[in-house]
Amino acid sequence: MPTIRPDISVPSCRATAAPLGAALARALLLTIAMTVAAPMAAQQPAGGWPQHSLERPKPPVERPPAQRLPVPAPKSAIVLFDGSDLSWWEKWDGTPAAWLLVDGAMEVVRNSGGIQTRIGFGDVRLHVEWASPEPAVGEGQDRGNSGVFLMGRYEVQVLDSYLSDTYADGQAAALYGQFPPRVNVSRAPGEWQSYDIEFRRPRFDSTGVVLSPARVTVRHNGVLVQDDVALLGPTSHRVRAPYEAHADQLPISLQDHGHPVRFRNIWVQPLTR
Ligand code: MG
Repeated sequence: MPTIRPDISVPSCRATAAPLGAALARALLLTIAMTVAAPMAAQQPAGGWPQHSLERPKPPVERPPAQRLPVPAPKSAIVLFDGSDLSWWEKWDGTPAAWLLVDGAMEVVRNSGGIQTRIGFGDVRLHVEWASPEPAVGEGQDRGNSGVFLMGRYEVQVLDSYLSDTYADGQAAALYGQFPPRVNVSRAPGEWQSYDIEFRRPRFDSTGVVLSPARVTVRHNGVLVQDDVALLGPTSHRVRAPYEAHADQLPISLQDHGHPVRFRNIWVQPLTR
């Protein structure tokens, strides 16, 4: 993701009310409860699991169906990457993307920074193919990590989750830090995988209040793993960040998490309704 937020401590829920009288103590506790309820609720995803919980149940592992890749881009699609060049992509500071072109794919160059499209998009259907490094190196989040960020803010996690464990809301095809995929249909390192993402941007009123959250549907290797899920806010690590009003169209970005993940055949169709 574009920025890794520093750890932010969770407010403590403990409070002591002695030596006040019972009525006063109840009133004080109610006040404290109301005060901490909002930030604590902000740490809790739907379903009540704390962010990045290791206890959260892992999605069942399934073998993905046979798939014919690459998937040809429809005529109406904008092809963001066809293997020949990085002309649609730039660094976040607007300088040329520094990732490698290898065998018709682009490969993350460690510490070169994430890349983003030169123009912005709002509601889209997005097709991305990617492959984890082979042989696999590292474990958990340190194994084939990258990400597809809609509007540079909302991450569909890219990770080597083939016979590799991590917290449920951080594995491949998770909406990072919020929602695990329904099933784990990861392919082996080095094998091409696909994401077909349908994304509806959040809507804000003129004062920045959220009218409707971002919604995401993801098919991983042809299998529905996120079904019109309403995001709780932008992607963030170890803190559940609230929505902040932003433009209607923003670049799609790909993450440099330090691992030589490859991408190919990226195309997008803006959705008009
Ligand atoms: Mg990532």
